[in-house]
Amino acid sequence: MASPLRVLIHGGGIGGLTLAVALARRGHTVEVVELRDELDALGVGIIQPSNALHVMREIGVLDDCVRAGFAWEVLTICDPAGATLAKIPQPRMGDAPSNNGIPRPALAKVLGDAAAAAGVPIRFGTTIGELADDGSGVDVTLSDGSAARWDLVVGFDGIGSPLRTRLYGDRFRPEYTGFANWRVTVPRHPEVQGVVMSTGNQAAKALLTPITDELMYLGAVFAEAEDFRPDPERAHEELAERLAGFTGPVAEALRDVTDPRAVVYSRISQVTVEEPWHVGRVVLAGDAAHASTPHLAQGAAMAVEDAQVLAESLDAEDGVAAALAAWEARRRPRAMWVQSMSRAILKQETGNATTPEEDELLKVGIPGAAHVLVRPY
Ligand SMILES: Cc1cc2nc3c(=O)[nH]c(=O)nc-3n(C[C@H](O)[C@H](O)[C@H](O)COP(=O)(O)OP(=O)(O)OC[C@H]3O[C@@H](n4cnc5c(N)ncnc54)[C@H](O)[C@@H]3O)c2cc1C
Repeated sequence: MASPLRVLIHGGGIGGLTLAVALARRGHTVEVVELRDELDALGVGIIQPSNALHVMREIGVLDDCVRAGFAWEVLTICDPAGATLAKIPQPRMGDAPSNNGIPRPALAKVLGDAAAAAGVPIRFGTTIGELADDGSGVDVTLSDGSAARWDLVVGFDGIGSPLRTRLYGDRFRPEYTGFANWRVTVPRHPEVQGVVMSTGNQAAKALLTPITDELMYLGAVFAEAEDFRPDPERAHEELAERLAGFTGPVAEALRDVTDPRAVVYSRISQVTVEEPWHVGRVVLAGDAAHASTPHLAQGAAMAVEDAQVLAESLDAEDGVAAALAAWEARRRPRAMWVQSMSRAILKQETGNATTPEEDELLKVGIPGAAHVLVRPY
């Protein structure tokens, strides 16, 4: 597109901030509205696989991410007692590391600092109030009463996306999978030099993920009733009860978990917007459009790829409508593959019946998926 655009991003999470930096560095005028009062994030970690790190390099923050995190190259599979079953080198995309574990607050800071350096204002504690798209622009009034006209509004507002409800009503709602993720940050054990996945115990799997030189997180998925919430007084004990069959490094990590407040519990849901991801000049991206279960550690990676490809499409195409169509044509197949594959792995690992289509996907497996995902997006 020849002339710079004015783009409003609804949501200053991982995808929204990545898009803000990508667009601002290309000369577009960008603003972010974020409901929270600051760029805080859950105090647990996240894995940035190589394709996400490739995007971080494109927006100029790869070194900052690696400095704030723990880059690693080899996935170790163990039995429940911690005996090594396999060591699987992980592929790289270009010269980005194959993976980087990073505390979520550290990633939020890297992206927030990059947005500030690119001159992007972030309005905290603010959301979209009124929105009117007349075909040639979108008039938006924010909850703080300010109003402006934008060429494009992007909803990077997460799995619960209020913008999705505004555009599509209740047609695409998050679907609870019946499983929840328990995570807790603990001191890193020196032998944890990459993700250590302990499997094979009562269909459960536990992951140790290094996120800094000093820290790693323990994560595990279990079937939980939709209305279950950990007991705030003994969440750490409830987690230990669920992991009772694991000895070895998982049990050692659990010994460091003494504070119930340190345990982060997240129900696992997914959502797919089955209609076009844009309505006029308002578009959804990241979890708002296609949230997956975390079984490939690719949700945020898909969000940042969405951001990078959207910035590229707006540059390459003539007009916003053409750019949004070209963007979705590139993004939907890959995001849907990740979603289907992640769901199939969840079912397999938890002993649930899989469909013939899922059986086909599972032939690729987690190691094969990593190779698929380092191909150009
Ligand atoms: C247990 C678990 C583990 C995971 N592990 C990984 C992993 O290792 N690697 C990986 O790549 N992905 C992982 N994911 C997925 C990843 O967290 C998400 O896919 C990613 O955060 C999506 O980015 P996003 O920008 O679309 O949404 P988010 O990061 O959720 O950001 C949405 C933002 O919108 C804001 N917002 C919401 N409503 C409004 C509003 N009304 N107005 C303004 N702002 C609003 C929110 O406050 C938030 O800042 C995991 C997910 C779970 C549940």
